[in-house]
Amino acid sequence: MSDKKLATVAVRTGIESDTQYNAVVPPLYLTSTYSFSQLGEVPQYDYSRSGNPTRNTLADALAELEGGAGAVVTNCGTAAINLLASALIGPEDLIIAPHDCYGGTYRLFNTRAAKGDFKVRFIDQTDPAAVAEALALQPKLIWVETPSNPLLRIVDVAELCATAKQTGALVAVDNTFLSPILQQPIALGADFVVHSTTKYINGHSDVVGGVLISKTEEHAEEIAWWANCIGATGAPFDAYMTLRGLRTLAPRMRMHEENSRQILAYLQQQPLVGNIYHPSQPEHPGHAIALKQQKGFGAMLSFEMAGGMAQLEVFVKELNCFSLAESLGGTESLICHPASMTHRAMSDEAQAEAGLKPSLLRLSVGLEDPEDLIADLEQAFNKASEVA
Ligand SMILES: *Cc1c(COP(=O)(O)O)cnc(C)c1O
Repeated sequence: MSDKKLATVAVRTGIESDTQYNAVVPPLYLTSTYSFSQLGEVPQYDYSRSGNPTRNTLADALAELEGGAGAVVTNCGTAAINLLASALIGPEDLIIAPHDCYGGTYRLFNTRAAKGDFKVRFIDQTDPAAVAEALALQPKLIWVETPSNPLLRIVDVAELCATAKQTGALVAVDNTFLSPILQQPIALGADFVVHSTTKYINGHSDVVGGVLISKTEEHAEEIAWWANCIGATGAPFDAYMTLRGLRTLAPRMRMHEENSRQILAYLQQQPLVGNIYHPSQPEHPGHAIALKQQKGFGAMLSFEMAGGMAQLEVFVKELNCFSLAESLGGTESLICHPASMTHRAMSDEAQAEAGLKPSLLRLSVGLEDPEDLIADLEQAFNKASEVA
């Protein structure tokens, strides 16, 4: 592991590694298979499901950025979550997950638990009594998502890892919302970090990908074995694209954050905006923990429309600089209605239990000029306010 700063690692990863032509940027190895030099001699790479130089360059970079011993780059973030469950969790094992986790994570854990693959319990991880009760059940794995989606709740990772360790539970953190630039869960005590690299790490909304990073060498080897066994690894072309996106991760995160600060200030004085959910707000219950464990507050924010659903519909329709779409973390700004989009797999009761209201909107603040973003919000709020 190098002693370089994160931005340097992200920019320089694989640079000047080509020994054949001295290409500064590492080439893309689009090959499914590799030749053996002679019978009985197994080469470093034999088949791209098990190993590919382009994918490995990305995996090594992400492991280094997160401070892990190794990583497996998967075909999507969900595959990384499934890989961890397949590799480590058996029918008698219990997973403790947050009740407001990513909708796809909820669906995956819930569906596989219903099939008898493992047991799962969804709890409010910001409630110490609920966490203590869950730990008493001797879980095998605690799944953490902080900040959570879409309400940006914050879990104290260091504290949770310390208590989890006493019961022998492993801790995995989905770090998609902040990226290693703003939060490094392994340094806080986590055993695994997962990303949907689809989001900030690739950052350009043109690749679906994921990664599972292990703290220890032992887990890294076990996970790599399972990734090959179940066929969870990502395509070389996607890894090449993601490596390209990764190089600008640090400056992008700074700009995403700066733009979101300006948008928050605007939303706070907008009468059609109800509750705002963002850890930078001093009244946010996770504000102090976020200050302690994060290097920034991130650029995802949610808010409730104070008016009715008719106003919400007009507001969303009139926006020009925010595309109505799922996903996040790209250069372009997006707006999402979690209740009918990302979280529709959750029943109304499960949504209510997670505090997810139908009036909630989630923004992924992009890299457009913030003055244009604010002007766009303003004109859409004005049109919405004309609706009775
Ligand atoms: C998108 C997302 C996932 C799932 O990743 P995919 O790449 O879409 O499979 C998991 N967790 C979080 C927090 C996400 O935003």
